[in-house]
Amino acid sequence: MFSARKLSGVCRAIRFHPFRSHSVSRTSPNLAFVPACLPPDPVEVEQLQHFVSNSKRLFVMTGAGISTESGIPDYRSEGVGLYARTDRRPVQHAEFVRSASARQRYWARNFVGWPQFSSHQPNTAHLVLRDWEKLGKLHWLVTQNVDALHTKAGSQRLTELHGCTHRVFCLACGDQILRSELQKYFEALNPTWKAEALEVAPDGDVFLTDEQVRSFKVPACRKCGGILKPDVTFFGDTVNREIVDFVHQRLAESDSMLVAGSSMQVYSGYRFALAARDKQLPIAILNIGPTRLDHFASLKLNSRCGELLPLIVVHDTTS
Ligand SMILES: [Zn+2]
Repeated sequence: MFSARKLSGVCRAIRFHPFRSHSVSRTSPNLAFVPACLPPDPVEVEQLQHFVSNSKRLFVMTGAGISTESGIPDYRSEGVGLYARTDRRPVQHAEFVRSASARQRYWARNFVGWPQFSSHQPNTAHLVLRDWEKLGKLHWLVTQNVDALHTKAGSQRLTELHGCTHRVFCLACGDQILRSELQKYFEALNPTWKAEALEVAPDGDVFLTDEQVRSFKVPACRKCGGILKPDVTFFGDTVNREIVDFVHQRLAESDSMLVAGSSMQVYSGYRFALAARDKQLPIAILNIGPTRLDHFASLKLNSRCGELLPLIVVHDTTS
């Protein structure tokens, strides 16, 4: 079913205007969805500095915790995550594929949430990782997020492990379109349909009543009439094997691993930490709250990504 999907380079077809500034002061964080934490301890800053300085080919994995400072809630953070505050759960893959009404509900909510969700901007942490890539420090970046914020920041050595909400493809023929383009089809098909976005989830979902959803019209693939699906790995689906192999290769070329803003509860990302452990790579974790790899990491720091990462000094190794 997914054979027509392209594996790499697809996201580059989306033209964002990357943030050019090296300055970290231009993005003031939105902390509503960031769990409470203390400012970085100077000793911890020094430890992370040592870890990063010792790495020549750093493999970085990010999760929802890096995007909370851009105003996107995560699912699992204590008190402020979506699971803690609401009883909403993301759509399951099988349900989406099987049920027309599930798709109608998904797209109606996604349509309402899109203007706000797609307007989120990268924060300091995204910009720092983009700069580390330019300076030759970061070998590969893997994100579990589907918000395109690393792409918006200008990162290129990047794999979006769970896809990206900014792309949509046809389950039958594999045709790809931009999510922004689909918004226009939705508007054309639903000229009088109106609903308000109250709160937008990490995947762009919002809450709507059944009545609101029932009258929403969903477009089919323009080429074959097939079912359109965001290029996102839904819960209950698995990451494409070729993507997994590709990331394992990038990890094999790396000399250490940094996890930023993820509790690593989801196996699709966790498996790379296990692989790093098996290769005896040093692992550092920067996450507010416990993670699944705390017991085998060399370094664990409970700080905000956007507060700690800019304190780390990285020199240009490309010349
Ligand atoms: Zn199609």
